[in-house]
Amino acid sequence: MKYATVIINIKGLGVKTFSYNIPAEMENVIQAGQAVLVPFGRRGLVNAFVVGFTDYVPEGIRVKKINKILDETPLFSIKYLKLLEWAANYYCTDFVTVLNSAIPLKLIEKNSKTEMSVEITPMGEQILSFGKTPKECGITKRQLEILGQLKVFGKISLLDFEEQSKTTRATMKKLEESGLVKFNLEYIYRNPLTIFKDIPVEPLYELSDVQEEVYQGIKKKLRSPNPILLHGVTASGKTEVYFKLIKDVIDSGKNVLFLAPEIALASQLTKRLAKKFGIKDVAIWHSSISDGEKYDVWQRLYKNEIKILAGARSAVFAPLQNIGLIIIDEEHEGAYKQASPAPRYDARVIAKRLAQFHQAPLLLGSATPDVSSYYYALNNNNLFQMLKRYNNAPLAKPEVVNMQEYGKASYRGIISKPLQTEITDAVEGGKQVILLMNRRGYSTYTQCKSCGNVIECPDCSIPMVWHSDGKKLKCHYCNKEMSMPDYCPSCGSDALSNSGSGTQKIETLVKELFPKYRVERIDSDILTKKNAHIELLNRFQKGEIDILVGTQMIAKGLDNPNVTLVGVISADTGFSVPDFRASERGFQLLTQVAGRAGRGEYKGKVLFQTYNPDYYAFQTAKTQDYEKFFDTEIKARQEFDYPPFSQIIRIILSSVNNFRAEKSAMEIAMRLNTMTEKFGFTEYLETLGPTPCIIAKINGHYRFQILIKNKLSQKGHDFVSKFLNKVTLPKDIRLAVDVDPLDIL
Ligand code: ADP
Ligand code: ZN
Ligand code: ZN
Repeated sequence: MKYATVIINIKGLGVKTFSYNIPAEMENVIQAGQAVLVPFGRRGLVNAFVVGFTDYVPEGIRVKKINKILDETPLFSIKYLKLLEWAANYYCTDFVTVLNSAIPLKLIEKNSKTEMSVEITPMGEQILSFGKTPKECGITKRQLEILGQLKVFGKISLLDFEEQSKTTRATMKKLEESGLVKFNLEYIYRNPLTIFKDIPVEPLYELSDVQEEVYQGIKKKLRSPNPILLHGVTASGKTEVYFKLIKDVIDSGKNVLFLAPEIALASQLTKRLAKKFGIKDVAIWHSSISDGEKYDVWQRLYKNEIKILAGARSAVFAPLQNIGLIIIDEEHEGAYKQASPAPRYDARVIAKRLAQFHQAPLLLGSATPDVSSYYYALNNNNLFQMLKRYNNAPLAKPEVVNMQEYGKASYRGIISKPLQTEITDAVEGGKQVILLMNRRGYSTYTQCKSCGNVIECPDCSIPMVWHSDGKKLKCHYCNKEMSMPDYCPSCGSDALSNSGSGTQKIETLVKELFPKYRVERIDSDILTKKNAHIELLNRFQKGEIDILVGTQMIAKGLDNPNVTLVGVISADTGFSVPDFRASERGFQLLTQVAGRAGRGEYKGKVLFQTYNPDYYAFQTAKTQDYEKFFDTEIKARQEFDYPPFSQIIRIILSSVNNFRAEKSAMEIAMRLNTMTEKFGFTEYLETLGPTPCIIAKINGHYRFQILIKNKLSQKGHDFVSKFLNKVTLPKDIRLAVDVDPLDIL
């Protein structure tokens, strides 16, 4: 083929490809997936990727020459590009946006790291073994000594050796010229896992009867084209079942992709994998490994040198070859979805497609599955359950404290008598307590008692939150801070007061009530200090903290057998959010946090304080009855045509000018409606809005949304995707498209 087709890495160019001449000297080396340098108009030389070859270019086009192949190892295959194309269509965005997110583009600038090593040659060995004098060999005494040292080291990095034996490059060069030592240029892979290299590899556990049954059942389903769901309560032993399946898959010569929702969990998981499978076959991928490490892992994946890749969301785009199984643990977690910027992809959706590409199964696991995942698994007969803990430790049964009854007599209206009694019992017995308050800050809003005005962020339409630590009002959306005004900005009265409660207030109250005990707080405000929360969690784990107050950050992962009490201060928070997924999120949070109690030999207690004790999500979280929760929830979803009964595509138009944002939202909605009718898609597509978003302003931008409910029609979806790709807008209007949004606030 005469020409190479390349895509150019400049944002905004869309899926456009360009053709370039292949210079004769490149003919035998050029391959699809390679990064190249090409001349591009006035921009001069730019980076590009080869995506294919052709004999034909349209007439009248002056074709330029590829300047240089940046790296001979291709960075991806044609099949891989197809996956990205699919994702671009699914998320109603352009190919280059997906490419930019999937492939760390810094990869192109990075190169393999090489290092010079040195070893002794047979001739050098001979000299040593015959015990010759330096004079006889024509080298100095010092040089002979160095040769002796090198023999002890074996093959070693040249730099390291020079340092160890306090010699110079000149001396080493002389020895090389005499043929006594040999230099080799070697590729060095940077592998973040080398820190685990001294961990001895352990055999897999023998499975319990319940695990064995599930394992066998899943094995039979491995050819299923639909996702398989393992619904297993926390500590039921899901991970050990995954390990058995992984072993089978890698023994059959295929590879495994294993996703965890957060970097910290992915790292924990990788350590566990390295322990069972050795570090040579395992690699980790997430947004925080260095560019050099990414480059090396990418190359090793491409060369099929990695059998198990563990990682967070972005690992779904790593080019793992020959996939035999994809596992997504804690599949209900919102962190699998990239909220912003575009592409607003969900790793679970991409993984499902990837699995189809490789004809490999996709296994989802969770203690509180996503309602849609559960619905599909149930309908496809692909659901497996482990509803008891591995060690049979009983799950704590939460009790509801009705605050309508106990609220008045509670400490400052917040900590009820029953909760106080339980805390006292726990800490006096030497046990530890977790208190969940899923709102940070001290109060929730500041209001004028005279005119009712609530102080809002000047740039976002939400109340500012008082933070007692920095003595500032903070906006939780744009992080703007200001000091508390002396007078109401609206009426000038000085009757401003803080209402509602956040973690800081709970921390203060608990310290007042339990002055003799050690109380600490964990929420994202402490994240400004690096590793601060890991340090606190470690101290809690070691028993150096008696009562830990925190947001949802404490609901996950904590496995402390000494925790006997979990108290949820305001179980209503979250459920009252005006969003169709609010009950699901609330249920998941309560169930997960309840799972932190009584994990060891001591019986656990869980208390939910609420003003709405009859709400079904409490009733079911109380009995930890997922199925009952699901039955109620799925009916509501069906009634209002929410997922899984429809697909939601959310379009947000925003601008610093309120009027212009609304106007362009109306224009787009109108055009969309006209086109939907014209092409006969009204049966599949329902357009709602535009309406101002519930959070009507963020960061000074007014926001309007259009919701499209697609009745699960592929044609309908493709139509919307094409429509949105063609929308052009004035410069001051921003468009954000979110397919399957996590919320619609
Ligand atoms: P999950 O992934 O469901 O939260 P894990 O797989 O982490 O549960 O299991 C919880 C604990 O029980 C872990 O410490 C794990 O090593 C242990 N465990 C699970 N299954 C077995 C088994 N078959 N034999 C021995 N220990 C097990
Ligand atoms: Zn006022
Ligand atoms: Zn703000």
